[in-house]
Amino acid sequence: MASKAFSKVESLIIDYGQRHQVEIEAAKKISTLAKVPYKILSTKLLSKIGDSALIGAGNVSSRNKKTGLPASFVPGRNILFLTIAGAIAYREDIHNIIMGVCQTDYSGYPDCRAATISAMQATLSLGMDWEFEIFTPMMFLSKKEEVILGNSFPGCMEALAFSHTCYEGQFPPCGKCPACKLRAKGFEEAGIPDPLIERAKK
Ligand SMILES: [Zn+2]
Repeated sequence: MASKAFSKVESLIIDYGQRHQVEIEAAKKISTLAKVPYKILSTKLLSKIGDSALIGAGNVSSRNKKTGLPASFVPGRNILFLTIAGAIAYREDIHNIIMGVCQTDYSGYPDCRAATISAMQATLSLGMDWEFEIFTPMMFLSKKEEVILGNSFPGCMEALAFSHTCYEGQFPPCGKCPACKLRAKGFEEAGIPDPLIERAKK
């Protein structure tokens, strides 16, 4: 989508100490398939702070007793990611940032909401005195709609075969964690086989 809309695109991959390094490999592979150059930046700050099942120990399917949010929520993650992306964009004379967050199948992540992103757009623009526009094309789509949209772009399904969703970090995907279930439901409702599952069968 980004390559279609803009003449020059690059992807930003952030190694934040997530439990599953497979995410990084998946992002690299997909960027390569999309013919988009990528940058990998490492920040282990979040894993030092801890308090999430995605970067430390703990059950990814449970909920935080204090907040009621999923245990997989990493406090401050998307805010930090956008700040890093903004700093790079500023240096490279880029005004547009694209992010795949979505609030429709709202799993309870407050930093995926449109209100958070629009506040971040204002904050970055003010804080760097640079006009930013943050695009979130998935924001109001259901997983079914995302699958149908992806299927309309040549090469997208081939790339999705190498994507990673499973909170348990497994390939073939565990099929039981909340992320696996949500993904499976989206493909099922769209009536399109999940290319990741097809690849796992081979
Ligand atoms: Zn899973």
